Amino acid sequence: MKTMSVVQNLSDAWLEAVRSRRIVNVFETNDDQKAKVEFGLVEVGGKFDYYAKNLTTGEALIRKVEDRAIEGTDFRIQYNGYRALRPRPKALNPGRQPDVSGDVMQCKFYCQDPKQNLSMLRRDALAQVTLKNWRWNAYYNATPFEKEGHLLWLPASVDGTSTVLPHLSQELTLPILEDMLSLFLNSDSMLLFFNSLHAGATVNHMHWQAVFHERELAIETAQTRKAGDGNGDWQVLDNYPANGLVFDRGVDPGKLFAAVKALQDKKVPYNLILVGKRICLMPRNKNHEVIPEFPGGAVASMELAGKIIIVDEAAFKAMDSVRLRNVLQKVTRSSWPSAGAVPIKEIRRRPDAPGRAPERTDGADQQVPPK
Ligand SMILES: [Zn+2]
Repeated sequence: MKTMSVVQNLSDAWLEAVRSRRIVNVFETNDDQKAKVEFGLVEVGGKFDYYAKNLTTGEALIRKVEDRAIEGTDFRIQYNGYRALRPRPKALNPGRQPDVSGDVMQCKFYCQDPKQNLSMLRRDALAQVTLKNWRWNAYYNATPFEKEGHLLWLPASVDGTSTVLPHLSQELTLPILEDMLSLFLNSDSMLLFFNSLHAGATVNHMHWQAVFHERELAIETAQTRKAGDGNGDWQVLDNYPANGLVFDRGVDPGKLFAAVKALQDKKVPYNLILVGKRICLMPRNKNHEVIPEFPGGAVASMELAGKIIIVDEAAFKAMDSVRLRNVLQKVTRSSWPSAGAVPIKEIRRRPDAPGRAPERTDGADQQVPPK
């Protein structure tokens, strides 16, 4: 099967799944009520819309969804009151979060337990593609933030007539990266991203996410500059609220993996964003996984790419260009953790660059650039 047609089929399969009311899930709320809630996307009058219903009381749950530009930036922000309903810890304490267990019995995809409501094994794959190293299945995300399509890609294998989802940890390997790069190269409209553990991933089972999005994201057109010795395919984001490395869409998988591995080996969390003509690798400040300035969740790939998704209405209203820069500076690293693997010594914005953030004073996660 050609990858291109898989992506087209996937987009069509998403539309069909919404129309036939398959993008629906039932879960229990976290509050004391322990109500059973049905949440999903439906087509109403030719448009896709979120809905939620309290199955315990039969009451429809109406929540706001708003989207606006953040003035003075190319970023947008979405407040999604429906996503606020989804199961999550009551309050996240700022700082580094507890490790997510890699134990297969505690896997949040319930990859070996089809009896669980939210088990991936109960969802139909919307698409399947066999790439160089793995066969991959695309599943709908249980709480989509993109109405045009929000999917999870998981390595899969087939055992007789049933699908098996091997419980691989959420850590990149070269074969996984090769496959996702080839999927990306054969798709114009799909944004693919990988959140590492402690950088937005809440499930320790190998998964990538994909969204079909209508608008260009800020990171696609952000300024870049050469860094380090100015040699090679790497650039860094310049005059952009977040720090990060930028590679060409056609980067050699081995080179990109060397950069990823440098982070993984040092246990530096990261986000990897494949969008448009770019691949952006965003090393994260491990001490600022959750920050008070971004209540209700953790910053992850979409936020760094230009779309802030927030479940706190007050924070939605208050977000402006200054707050945005403070948040994204705080959660991304301004220095590269190791020498050798990539010829980049620092990814900090130039001191003379316009619009730079104030100097950091906490010294957290700073390292002296290697000689
Ligand atoms: Zn699993």
